[in-house]
Amino acid sequence: MSTGKKLYEGKAKIVYATENDREYLTYFKDDATAFNAQKKGSIENKGSINCTISSALLELLGNKGIKTHFLDQKSEREMLVKAVEIIPLEVVVRNIAAGSLCKQTGLPEGQKLAFPLVEFYLKNDDLGDPLLTIDRLTLLNIATPEQISLLKEKALKINQYLIEFFASCDITLVDFKLEFGLDQEGTILLADEISPDTCRLWDVLEQDTEKRVLDKDRFRRDLGKVESAYQQVQKRVLTQIEKLKNN
Ligand code: ADP
Ligand code: MG
Repeated sequence: MSTGKKLYEGKAKIVYATENDREYLTYFKDDATAFNAQKKGSIENKGSINCTISSALLELLGNKGIKTHFLDQKSEREMLVKAVEIIPLEVVVRNIAAGSLCKQTGLPEGQKLAFPLVEFYLKNDDLGDPLLTIDRLTLLNIATPEQISLLKEKALKINQYLIEFFASCDITLVDFKLEFGLDQEGTILLADEISPDTCRLWDVLEQDTEKRVLDKDRFRRDLGKVESAYQQVQKRVLTQIEKLKNN
């Protein structure tokens, strides 16, 4: 596919313009970062795996009526998407306590939460992606109160679909991060990616608290076998998608 001008290079993807100003091509890299890019490395084949998993999951959500930026997976590492203006928020949904939630609240890792927790973090690496309050969100004019409640509603719906889908892959969806954007009409679309980089995924078939980890925590915590964990997720996701298509 002929690529247009490079518009932006992030930590995991490069965004290219296309002949159509309403569409971008995102290229998924193998680069891996953690702890606000203080830890850097690369995971072999990650770009291809994450592009494939994200494409499959975004298409699945699209079929459920969730409006997403996904148009087509053009190659192993390239996804054609609708161009949006990204809302500078990381919308995090948590089902089980892990990561910064444990650090900041003292909840033990692995504790099931009484309800899915939706959190908004400012997407700003220089500030370390701080957790926002609803009032701070409004104060910063990042989203209107109506948009905020819409984002929360969408995030919870997506969580329900993804919990169910991952469960059918024998994977527990612990938590995940979403990004949303506005298209030219001002419609909110689910954008970016849904992958082992952006989700915590635990293998249901594995009790050991390290062996069960199938996501970027393997890289963050130097648990090894990072690529094979990502591959395992890809394999289960694609197998399950095939089954759904044949039913
Ligand atoms: P980051 O380093 O911020 O995590 P990534 O490398 O993951 O960035 O992605 C590159 C950029 O592409 C990010 O700023 C992301 O928000 C943006 N992006 C994702 N989907 C779209 C889209 N449909 N339109 C415009 N920008 C997008
Ligand atoms: Mg990213």
